[in-house]
Amino acid sequence: MIELLTPAQVDQMRPAGRFVASVLTRLAEVADVGVDLLELDAEAHRMIREAGAESCYIDYHPSFGAMPFGKVLCTSVNDAVLHGLPHAYKLRDGDLVSVDFAASVDGWVADSALSFVVGTPRDEDLAIIDTTQRALAAAIEVAQPGNKLGDISAAIGDVCRADGYKVNTQFGGHGVGRTMHGDPHVPNDGRAGRGMKLRPGLVIAIEPWLMAGTDEIVMDPDGWTIRSDDGSRGAHSEHTIAITEDGPLVLTARD
Ligand code: MG
Repeated sequence: MIELLTPAQVDQMRPAGRFVASVLTRLAEVADVGVDLLELDAEAHRMIREAGAESCYIDYHPSFGAMPFGKVLCTSVNDAVLHGLPHAYKLRDGDLVSVDFAASVDGWVADSALSFVVGTPRDEDLAIIDTTQRALAAAIEVAQPGNKLGDISAAIGDVCRADGYKVNTQFGGHGVGRTMHGDPHVPNDGRAGRGMKLRPGLVIAIEPWLMAGTDEIVMDPDGWTIRSDDGSRGAHSEHTIAITEDGPLVLTARD
């Protein structure tokens, strides 16, 4: 079921959006060569406690998960691109890191992700990050009342394919509100003009992600971490946005 929020309820989501944005900003500052993924998770956990927020991940246990996630953050490094379970690993020079974080504040959830390189970047890593960011921006631009869900999907797919990437559509965006994952599913490729009409009060996470050489994924034995099947590196950009009468409102915007 798709829930449309009132303008007052959308306003109530702003603290969650601001909090999630602040955590990602902090993690991008802290992450460096030699910093352990578990330290990033611990920092996010500290900020959750300090803010009186709640993690959406720590007890998350969907039917496909071997066990509850147990961490508050997804950290996906290099050929890992989604749902990376934080583990003891010290970041190395040139690592491409994707951090995905969702938390609730006052009962409302926000969900956001970003990728960055620690140390000296490779050009191709900066390029794939840039493509996911531009795909996200293009998708947000068409997230206007009266447009269709397919316009968002097409905007993502067009940017990614124009840059030479294949698009995996197994995982994409989703409704966000009182829970982390709701309807509608927001595919990362599709046809403009198709699908449900976008109405004020619809709140969704839009999350283009890419792998440099493939659109096929493999899952680690941990039951969570998703990697490219060819070892190529991936990137991920995500914001939670509300469709309002005035256009898209990016709840997780970072300063
Ligand atoms: Mg997310």
